[in-house]
Amino acid sequence: MTRPLVFATRNQGKLVELRQLLPDIAVLSVDEAAARIGREIPDVVEDADTFVGNATKKAREVSAITGLPALADDSGLEVDALAGAPGVFSARYAGAGASDAANNAKLLVALTGVPPERRTARFRACLALADVTGSLGANVITAEGTAEGVILDEPRGSGGFGYDPLFLFPERGQTFAELGVGTKGDLSHRAKAMRAIKPRLLAYLATP
Ligand code: IMP
Repeated sequence: MTRPLVFATRNQGKLVELRQLLPDIAVLSVDEAAARIGREIPDVVEDADTFVGNATKKAREVSAITGLPALADDSGLEVDALAGAPGVFSARYAGAGASDAANNAKLLVALTGVPPERRTARFRACLALADVTGSLGANVITAEGTAEGVILDEPRGSGGFGYDPLFLFPERGQTFAELGVGTKGDLSHRAKAMRAIKPRLLAYLATP
């Protein structure tokens, strides 16, 4: 039997999407992994200045503490008119522990008066697989995906999480919050990163 994979995230929105993108593998949440090893898994301090740096750090730390392969996602929104902000600070744009609503409100204020043609943005997701006590050792397998869109001037839709209600996906004429988990799960930055990493992930997990 293959060892289970731990998703190194406490973001419930990401967890739902990652589980849906990997229906065929045994996956533990951080809390399930903590229960399995009988100790708490502390939050990882995300102090790298790149998505790949933070994803690598999260995957390595959770793998080291659990003794299992760990897959981490670091992701965020890059707004062109804000020189790429909020970027790696997306989760805490309005301050440490900020709610999605507070982050969205701050983004709308920052873009006040910016016309639609200059409100271009993209979501970027980096996935990293670490298995520090397994055959990967110090190596990490990574992949990235992006989704291009436009920031609206008011939220639309009730699905998804984070900045989804403000992120219009022009190819579909809907925000990620309107698209629903199934469609977003096909088109999103996270879906693209998962498609890119999946063959290597499955091959690694199948190796004894
Ligand atoms: P992380 O835990 O540092 O990777 O935080 C990612 C943050 O980026 C989330 O809290 C959201 O604010 C934002 N984000 C990442 N992916 C998505 C997405 O698919 N939809 C909406 N917001 C996202």
